[in-house]
Amino acid sequence: MIMDEDDSNRIKENVYRIKSSLPGEVLLVAAAKKKAPEEVKAAIGAGIKIIGHNYVQEAERMRQAVDEPVQWHMIGHLQRNKVKTAVRLFDMIETIDSVRLAEEVNDRCGSAGKTMPVLIEINSGKESNKTGVLPDDVEKLILQINNLSNLKILGLMTMGPRFGNPENARPYFKVTRSIFDHLKRAKIPNVEMRYLSMGMSNSYRIAIEEGANIVRLGTVLFGERNK
Ligand SMILES: *Cc1c(COP(=O)(O)O)cnc(C)c1O
Repeated sequence: MIMDEDDSNRIKENVYRIKSSLPGEVLLVAAAKKKAPEEVKAAIGAGIKIIGHNYVQEAERMRQAVDEPVQWHMIGHLQRNKVKTAVRLFDMIETIDSVRLAEEVNDRCGSAGKTMPVLIEINSGKESNKTGVLPDDVEKLILQINNLSNLKILGLMTMGPRFGNPENARPYFKVTRSIFDHLKRAKIPNVEMRYLSMGMSNSYRIAIEEGANIVRLGTVLFGERNK
């Protein structure tokens, strides 16, 4: 896409407005899928410190074009054959949802001499077409991967519905929050429940009310997604 100064200013204004409306402890991840490097650079120019990406190959191209001191979070479904590249590109993987994926990330981090902060993705709506581990299976998954020494389990992530009345997302966030609190109390070794990543453009205010301290925003920062 062709960006002009107006586009860049519009993105910057969005970032300033949203950032100033968020509680201080809430981290803002700019969800940059299908965005051009210029759009992401405009957001960084306005103070974005974390870029979220869904696709490993696109993120790789983006990182080459956007050489800025920001953090990169993987927020999309991660295929095991992309883990090697993902481990090189990302500072956090928010979408761990199986033992096999966790083990692959752990192995690749071992070879790369890296420890990867990760979140466990919860399928809070129990939707069959969504990725993420079912609420009832989260603790079992964590107990199977908490001994992987190159992972640092730091919290939970969930999607919830993207469209419709934002209030409809609240039950998904409540479920995820209650699992988060339960795991915190459980004091599982090598597991720290520090981050709760919930809420997108449509629903982030509700997510924050329900305890999110990471929100992942695309549309409200960048405008509608390019086709
Ligand atoms: C695209 C995406 C977002 C941002 O969605 P918007 O509705 O554009 O804010 C957040 N999280 C994930 C996992 C996404 O894929």
